[in-house]
Amino acid sequence: MIDVLVIGAGPAGVMAALRAADLGARTTLVSSAEFGGMAANDGPVPVRALAHASRLLRDARQLGQYGVTINEPSLDYSRLLARVQEIVRDVRTNSSLRMQIDALGVTVCEQVGAARFIEPHVIETRAGLRLRAEKVIICTGGASRRLPIPGFELTSTHTDAWALTSVPRSMLVVGAGATGVQVASIFNAFGSRIELFEAGPRILATEDVDISTSAAVALRRSGIAVHENFGAIDAFEKTATGVRMRFTKNGQRFEAEAELVVVATGWAADTESLNLAVAGVELNQRKFVKVDEYLRTSIPHIFAAGDVTGHLMLVPQAIQAGFVAASNAVRGPRMPLIDQVSPMGSFTEPEYAQAGLTESKAREAYDIVTSIVHFEATTRTIIDGRKFGFCKLVVDRKACKVLGCHVIGERAVDIAEVAAIAIAAGMRVDDLAQIPLAYPTYAGILVRAAVMAAGQLGLTVGWQAHQVESGTVVKNGQS
Ligand SMILES: Cc1cc2nc3c(=O)[nH]c(=O)nc-3n(C[C@H](O)[C@H](O)[C@H](O)COP(=O)(O)OP(=O)(O)OC[C@H]3O[C@@H](n4cnc5c(N)ncnc54)[C@H](O)[C@@H]3O)c2cc1C
Repeated sequence: MIDVLVIGAGPAGVMAALRAADLGARTTLVSSAEFGGMAANDGPVPVRALAHASRLLRDARQLGQYGVTINEPSLDYSRLLARVQEIVRDVRTNSSLRMQIDALGVTVCEQVGAARFIEPHVIETRAGLRLRAEKVIICTGGASRRLPIPGFELTSTHTDAWALTSVPRSMLVVGAGATGVQVASIFNAFGSRIELFEAGPRILATEDVDISTSAAVALRRSGIAVHENFGAIDAFEKTATGVRMRFTKNGQRFEAEAELVVVATGWAADTESLNLAVAGVELNQRKFVKVDEYLRTSIPHIFAAGDVTGHLMLVPQAIQAGFVAASNAVRGPRMPLIDQVSPMGSFTEPEYAQAGLTESKAREAYDIVTSIVHFEATTRTIIDGRKFGFCKLVVDRKACKVLGCHVIGERAVDIAEVAAIAIAAGMRVDDLAQIPLAYPTYAGILVRAAVMAAGQLGLTVGWQAHQVESGTVVKNGQS
């Protein structure tokens, strides 16, 4: 008899299996696909690899400015894809907890087809493997949301985009969330003509408004046609050279066409194949697996973790949830899932990132001040010729604590990451302002933003008030 059966070998499932085995449970991990899940095989890893290539192209174009002469860079897409595969294999082998899983004696059944419940304690995989377990943890992740629109089968997902053998001449990207903007940004750098369609009033809707606005400006400047509030899609149709999208806005009909249409309009739980009704596991209103704070589903012996629950859909959060679910499955429901400050961002061009509350969310609960420092006024960005962008801090006026940080521009994610540590530590903004961060660095901008915010709050920040960046005086919020 298996003590704990984990379904899905993405970050959530791998950590759940690792934790359960570490607590002494006889553990089996089954996955329809390869070890590592979407994260290693189809999401962040291949995306980052392609984004890195697009950044290298960009950086190569800057060489002349610094006196380095090379020919105009060009892209060999098939060589790039081979490199992406190499990276994916390397990550899967060396950086995915595989060795720890094996060392703890977890039975790993990879590529055994989708598992489905045939009884509440029994699953069967498409390959015919039948397993009975005391406890089950569902970690099957998510899948790109499909739209009930005529001709939808003519469209592609981000996965199809990575599988292309050449760079399409033109591309429509529908949905301007993190995935859509990423696809648009990468293929724009590779030379595709991109149109980006967002049904809502702004792209990157979960980011701070200032970041969304600035990202839209930068994407347009880079040649992407950004259409916000574009209306509603009527149909997709095949054309001689690609796909046409017909859509309606304010009663008027429009169309756009390209060689490829990529739809990235959201992420749905991957539960279709699981036959959850047999086990009695309920879904929530958003059609994700319903869990309580201990990650128990509606059936006491079945737990769920990661994207399949619809909680923050990111790798670190999936890993944390896998740990919590397995702890509770083995030892009883004692460990609640606690939300932590979650820095997140995207390696688009330009890069953007956030940690903590956006300005509008913060205003709902706090009296706040904000400060913004632009990249054109910091030393490192000037040195590197990366002067587009800004860092914005959101600070609680009463407690003087940092609530949020929002950055757009080079190394935005690294900057927000430092801010996340300050937020998680509950740091006061005047304390942050007095940390002598190394010079000249990208993260140094945080201190400047902190000094400006502290100035608005009438706080003393010592020597930093006078010498924040060489040659710049910032005092009482004035610079
Ligand atoms: C394009 C893209 C870029 C991303 N970039 C980032 C990023 O930069 N940073 C970040 O933190 N996150 C990123 N994410 C999100 C991140 O990949 C997910 O949050 C994370 O992979 C979720 O982990 P998981 O274990 O819940 O599920 P997954 O990684 O999706 O793994 C689930 C596994 O379960 C398997 N499975 C499904 N159904 C069954 C079944 N019935 N039986 C057996 N096995 C099954 C699947 O094949 C899969 O292997 C990105 C996502 C996408 C799509």
